[in-house]
Amino acid sequence: MSDEIQRASQTVLSEADLDSSLFRAAVEQADIAVSITDAAANVLYVNPAFTRVTGYCAADALGRNQSILSSRTTPKDVYQAMWAAITQHESWSGRLPNRRKDGSRYLADLTITPVIDAEGRTTHYLGLHRDVTALHELECAVRNQKTLIESVVDGAPVVMALLDMDDVVILDNHEYKKLMGDLGMIEPAGILLEAVRNELGTGFGPFRAGSHAFLDRQVRIDRPHWRNARWFSCSGVWVGAARDDADAFYSESGRAYLLVVAKDITRQIIEQEKARVAAMHAVMLEEGRVQTLRESLQAAVYQMEGPLNVLASVVNLLGRRGCDPAQAALADALKAGQLAVETLRSAIPSVASEHPSSVNVNELMRDVLDLSARHFLSAGIEVHWQPQLVLPGIQGYPNRLRAMFKSLVDNAVEAMNVKGWRNRELVITSRTVGQDVAVLIEDSGPGLAPELRLKAFEPFFSTKKGEGSHLGTGLTAAQQVIADHGGTIEITDGAQKGCLVRVTLPVVH
Ligand code: FAD
Repeated sequence: MSDEIQRASQTVLSEADLDSSLFRAAVEQADIAVSITDAAANVLYVNPAFTRVTGYCAADALGRNQSILSSRTTPKDVYQAMWAAITQHESWSGRLPNRRKDGSRYLADLTITPVIDAEGRTTHYLGLHRDVTALHELECAVRNQKTLIESVVDGAPVVMALLDMDDVVILDNHEYKKLMGDLGMIEPAGILLEAVRNELGTGFGPFRAGSHAFLDRQVRIDRPHWRNARWFSCSGVWVGAARDDADAFYSESGRAYLLVVAKDITRQIIEQEKARVAAMHAVMLEEGRVQTLRESLQAAVYQMEGPLNVLASVVNLLGRRGCDPAQAALADALKAGQLAVETLRSAIPSVASEHPSSVNVNELMRDVLDLSARHFLSAGIEVHWQPQLVLPGIQGYPNRLRAMFKSLVDNAVEAMNVKGWRNRELVITSRTVGQDVAVLIEDSGPGLAPELRLKAFEPFFSTKKGEGSHLGTGLTAAQQVIADHGGTIEITDGAQKGCLVRVTLPVVH
């Protein structure tokens, strides 16, 4: 035996050393109501704490059944379960509404343990109980308060969610669940927080219980297909709570949570949007007319420059041969022609100046789809709009970008809108790819041969020359707008037969 164990065994009393008087003194002085009964629950012993709790002194209780404590409100099946357990040599614990000697009521937290003799018979029962009325009242108050708070939170007409520091939702309300259903069971908190983080860039405000992590940030959620976008005004409030694990019992440290509150402001925004869309419509119409004029004049200049260059070479040649009169006449004609070209060039309207701002590509695409809705309908085109729910904003020129996307969508529509073409589907997708926002426009038209995919970006190249007003400058202009935004455009094969136009625009440019 080691020295340590030997020393310990000397200080610990053996069972034989513990005489019954010590047991008795310990039970007498215990601060818990103790009773010992026979097998029929008739009281044989009670300690002073029992008297303090019940009002019954030993003389009152001895010989009487423990049922003297019953308040007569406990359901029968509770007693049946109690007796079923203790008669099968098991302990039973539970709460019973009891009545003191003076008739007053209290809630007892009771444990009954059978005392079993050497033959395995239950000879006695040991009852231990405490008055837990105050604790119960406290528990009820907490439960009631929780129910009240939950009903207030649930009834609030705003989306609410409490998140831990890993962005896991701990608590949410009815509006939150409704929004989740609306988004196809995607957790709305993640979407809202991602959008706010994207917008803030610098992260949330530092943790201070009760302070705002962010305040009134507007978030646009684009739902798939033709469903209207929804807008929310989002705020985040830091919440501090005490830790409930045993290790933290003596610790001051707490847990941090983020309460996200999102108010649906779709209605207000739609009102503002109506005015914006009407203004945008007018701008696009005017811009379209100017663009057509610009392209026509550019085409005229381009077409006149060819013969004038030939004329210039002839004038040069004649000059060298010394044919003066003819050379002079041609030189005059050349001058007049060059002057006419210059006049035309100066008449080309310049591109309207625009200030760069934060642009939501989903919003632009949605504008384009709304503007083209009639066009889709008349051409019998089925449109699948698959936006990423929330896209980060890019810096750019909204009107130029919108016109550019419109021209790409118009190209796709025209590719499919040919006599006899049956499959007419347009799939438009937006998504974040690394640091870029990508828009994919895929049609089910006849497609573009690989050798023409680069040529298509050359000025005045068109596979539809001679049909309508096709000058072949749309893709050239689109490429310019995209390049001005630091992005790229490419044409590849679509999943079906048609073209897939892929535009990427960097988030930070
Ligand atoms: P009872 O007729 O006494 O019992 C109700 C049901 O319990 C019966 O239908 C029967 O199925 C079962 N039952 C009763 N006695 C026995 C038995 N001896 N063997 C098998 N089944 C039986 N009750 C309280 O309300 N408050 C207390 O604080 C409390 N403390 C107790 C402490 C101890 C140590 C023990 C052993 C019992 C205690 N009881 C207590 C239970 C009490 O003895 C009664 O069973 C209970 O109060 C119901 O009384 P009653 O007169 O309404 O019905």
